[in-house]
Amino acid sequence: MAERRLASTRPAELAPLFAPLTGLKGVGPRIAGLLKTLLRPKRQPEALYLVDLLLHLPSGGVDRRMTGSISEARIGELATLKVRIAEHRPGVQGRFRRGRAPYRILVEDDTGAVELVYFNADRSYLQRTLPVGEERLISGKVEAYDGYLQMPHPDYVARADGTDLPDVEPVYPLTTGLSNGLLRKLMDQALGRVPSLPEWIDAAWLKKNGWPGFKAALLASHRPASFADLEATAPPRARLAYDELLANQLALAAIRQRIRKARGRSIRGDGHIRKKILDALPFELTGAQRFALSEIDGDMADGHRMLRLLQGDVGSGKTIVALLAMAAAIEAGGQAALMAPTEILARQHAKTLEGFAGPAGLKVEILTGREKGKTRQALLERLGAGEIDILIGTHALFQEGVDFKDLALAVIDEQHRFGVHQRLALQGKSTGAGAELLVMTATPIPRTLLLTNFGEMDVSKLDEKPPGRTPIKTRTVPDERLAEVIEGAQRAVANGAQVYWVCPLVAESETLDIAAAEERFAVLQKIFGDHVGLIHGQLKAKEKDEVMGRFAAGELSILVSTTVIEVGVDVPNASIMIIEHAERFGLSQLHQLRGRVGRGAKESACILLYRQPLTETAKERLNVMRRTEDGFVIAEEDLRLRGGGEVLGTRQSGMPAFRLARLPEHTELLEAARDEARLALTRDPTLSEPRSQALKTLLYLFERDDAIRLLRAG
Ligand code: ADP
Ligand code: MG
Repeated sequence: MAERRLASTRPAELAPLFAPLTGLKGVGPRIAGLLKTLLRPKRQPEALYLVDLLLHLPSGGVDRRMTGSISEARIGELATLKVRIAEHRPGVQGRFRRGRAPYRILVEDDTGAVELVYFNADRSYLQRTLPVGEERLISGKVEAYDGYLQMPHPDYVARADGTDLPDVEPVYPLTTGLSNGLLRKLMDQALGRVPSLPEWIDAAWLKKNGWPGFKAALLASHRPASFADLEATAPPRARLAYDELLANQLALAAIRQRIRKARGRSIRGDGHIRKKILDALPFELTGAQRFALSEIDGDMADGHRMLRLLQGDVGSGKTIVALLAMAAAIEAGGQAALMAPTEILARQHAKTLEGFAGPAGLKVEILTGREKGKTRQALLERLGAGEIDILIGTHALFQEGVDFKDLALAVIDEQHRFGVHQRLALQGKSTGAGAELLVMTATPIPRTLLLTNFGEMDVSKLDEKPPGRTPIKTRTVPDERLAEVIEGAQRAVANGAQVYWVCPLVAESETLDIAAAEERFAVLQKIFGDHVGLIHGQLKAKEKDEVMGRFAAGELSILVSTTVIEVGVDVPNASIMIIEHAERFGLSQLHQLRGRVGRGAKESACILLYRQPLTETAKERLNVMRRTEDGFVIAEEDLRLRGGGEVLGTRQSGMPAFRLARLPEHTELLEAARDEARLALTRDPTLSEPRSQALKTLLYLFERDDAIRLLRAG
């Protein structure tokens, strides 16, 4: 559906790039499946386009330049040689046990001879392509056999003038079953169909950098003239990276523009509700909390719409800040909403907020997919009548039919799940009334990530933990010592501790995750009886609540869970976190999980069980976890270890999956793209003037159609 609509608005000049990949010669269903795995794992093969292939750039190259004469060829290494074909030696049939003897061709130059060796050869093909007496370039690995030089199955047999042998053969990232040769052939076809597109980069900037046009850049990146062309900073590569970053920044700028445009109003609370909440708090706000709150107050009081990120490590106390901001919105006569990424978190928030806000006389309600029928109807009516002050929920909050009387402040709790731009977009559409927007995130986000995910956004940081936290002792333990770990848990439980037990993440399948958790549950049940609970994504919401409730109430001592469950719950008495197969988790995820303990006065521990052998990176990750609890250090290390690239990690850290841009190498380009995007939208807020057309083409090229819709709606 959506696909069809997009296709009709995409400019015609992009049509060749959005032709299906299956239209290329050699792409049948099997190859299409492999290409999908390689290029866009989440897409259907039918929705794979030429552009997806074209944006898959070589990761390296093989030197195919001439290596000299035959006498200089080194055994075991690649050689590219200019040779004369001297003799065909078809081989005697039956000399080998299976099938035919290899077909040999003796080639020579003035310094010596090499035998080309072909097993299972197509003889007539060899006779046609390598006629005796002619000259050819051959390239491949040289070996020694019986005192002779051989080259079994040369990689290349090319014309003697070298016109069909590149100096640098591009090497692509591959997937099992796809060869580099095939990818090169497909790429050649695809490159032949690249249209010339209008230039979207500012002429002066293009010139200053010495960048080629889009088409030329694409050609040069796939057909490098030298190894330097393969560097991320080579002009053609840099240009393509900039294109991608510019599309990203334009899209973010469009979202931001949409949100800021709805004129905010001036929200100033008189402090009477806030005072009641503060008076009832069993603690004092930290300095960081007070400062963040003053920044939020400032944003809400001015006439623009607030677009602020509240960034603070797990346990830094974001919730109470959000609540106090909501209090101001309510004092000013409005309502507030809090959206959590999962149902469990929404319920947890509802409970917490109710605890703080109830005594201050605020009406707090929850709305998720679970509230249905009459209950839901009644709730919506009260919401519309302004009888509910704070509505908490999942994305169900912003569905059609959910109408606030007067939504003044929307808070989005992202925890470590980003994907914020979609949420922001949603927000831009759904809360047209000009609600102020506060996004809470638990992962300290390095600046590059902040820019690529949020564009320009104001940030408040909670960089100070509430007092009274105990440091968490983190240990890494090989899983052969599981029995010891269980014994340790037994001792701790006997002393009244509560334990989270997180089971391995098997990325491919939730069902497998659950099987592993169930198995562990069964083992632990034998030891701990009915003091163990199990929770996973396939339980019914009611069952989840029940298990969570019993853990929170202390009836359960051990909570076994898969990571599908957001462990964003707050059980201060829980002081032990055990994570199985910790080597499979990303750093930020480990940090999030660990942050669930160390919240009470009890001494806390985190045990990272791992299975050997560990990869170097896994080892480093576990070491980082042992070394520090500082979320900032962990986020930076995370970025460093992943180099900003790898797909799974990308999803976890919130780095958009760039195909061309490499961070940190292209950080400067990112900043330039940010400035350019801002300028473009200031000049022409809907990108409707003729000179903005090329920028729209760019957005379509990188499939940021969402941004174009926002601009149009604007
Ligand atoms: P976050 O959402 O940032 O992970 P929470 O808001 O859930 O953190 O706070 C974690 C815990 O710390 C909660 O139990 C909360 O009541 C408590 N807390 C928050 N602020 C303070 C403070 N200033 N002093 C002591 N405890 C606090
Ligand atoms: Mg929280």
